[in-house]
Amino acid sequence: MVEGKLRGRTSEVLHERAKVIMPGGVSSPVRLFPPHPFFARRAEGCVIVDADGNEYTDYCMAYGPLIFGHAYGPIINAVRGQLRDGTLYGTPTEGEVAFAESIKKAMPACEMLRLVNSGTEATMHAIRLARGFTGRKTIVKFDGCYHGAHDSVLVKAGSGAATHGGPSSLGIPEEVVENTLVLPYNDPGALEKAFQEHGRDIAAVIIEPVIGNIGVVEPAPGYLESVRRVTEENGALLILDEVITGFRLAFGGAQEMFGIRPDLVTLGKVIGGGFPLAAYGGRKDIMSMVSPLGAVYQAGTFAGNPVSVAAGRATLDELSARRNSVYPTLERSRERLTNGIRDAARDSHKQVQVNETASMFQMFFTGQPVTDATSASSCDRGLYMRLHHGLLERGVFFPPSQFETCFLSTAHTHDRIDATVEAVAEVLRGL
Ligand SMILES: *Cc1c(COP(=O)(O)O)cnc(C)c1O
Repeated sequence: MVEGKLRGRTSEVLHERAKVIMPGGVSSPVRLFPPHPFFARRAEGCVIVDADGNEYTDYCMAYGPLIFGHAYGPIINAVRGQLRDGTLYGTPTEGEVAFAESIKKAMPACEMLRLVNSGTEATMHAIRLARGFTGRKTIVKFDGCYHGAHDSVLVKAGSGAATHGGPSSLGIPEEVVENTLVLPYNDPGALEKAFQEHGRDIAAVIIEPVIGNIGVVEPAPGYLESVRRVTEENGALLILDEVITGFRLAFGGAQEMFGIRPDLVTLGKVIGGGFPLAAYGGRKDIMSMVSPLGAVYQAGTFAGNPVSVAAGRATLDELSARRNSVYPTLERSRERLTNGIRDAARDSHKQVQVNETASMFQMFFTGQPVTDATSASSCDRGLYMRLHHGLLERGVFFPPSQFETCFLSTAHTHDRIDATVEAVAEVLRGL
């Protein structure tokens, strides 16, 4: 541990106080890391500032939502405007209709959609809908994919569940987990075999098109196509979980990038512009089964919250208007950073894999390619945490787990990126 580069002990003191009243002192498990997390006071652009005034270039970016960086002007203005007009009505608004229309325009597979508050809700309801529509019980998910913290998908899940949890969570009845088949990612043969054995029972396959919850793992060429083909042949629905990738990989998400048309889509993170907002949508015949049109129940007091919708609309409007520059700019920034990191790794003679796509990347300490949960788990996670700590000491915030993803925003400047490369090089040399 490098001593003395960070000022103050306020975060440590706050964490002591937080631990008494909140499990782990945090509101979500992944936020806890040793010796203690820093407590944020404010953030702007690509910089987050802790309770002692230490500044960090932020690559955690709240785990994905902030594609324009912190406190982005057009989003803040939209939210301010809405606040003056009230915060929650319990009636429909024009804003949510316009927002849903924008999503459909970007993602034609979302013929109809329903707004919810979190990615967890979106996948939970998409799964219930898939079961209601097909009359089947079994769900297929992939080892290392994370779809939120609810019962049927909290099996061999990525993100905090991989960092802090076991293979599954306590408190989930066996009868529930029995209906979830977990398969290795990037293995079309395993999926074919599962369908040969259980095809008539499988309601849906839920998948992250690019995994962002064991670090970044891309689908092998043709893999998503084979998932699409096998589900279609067997009358099972394909739920593409684009909570991270939607509007991040491309304006139309991974479905546009890979040319896949899913039956159902789940969205969250980027679409809320930093506010709690998520959605699930898809084929009209399926979505027509959602209450009050159909018999699959789902509801929410805060669903379509006007403040979140204002932030979401501002985000999608900006992305739509600037998509021809935003996505290439993000890609160039990421390339500048990961090329620098690769050079630094080579110079330090450390075995490092850098997985990357669009504005997402992660470093793994291993000599082997990382293509699924098994290869991700075999990396040296201790070295990653030392990297994380060393970077914090140098004013750079990478997510505090090997099983999370680094995100770039349009607010990450070349100067900051170059300084980050320097910091990574320095830490790698010392490992
Ligand atoms: C973050 C995430 C979720 C859960 O979203 P929350 O808003 O945290 O409930 C679901 N799926 C994927 C792919 C995610 O990355």
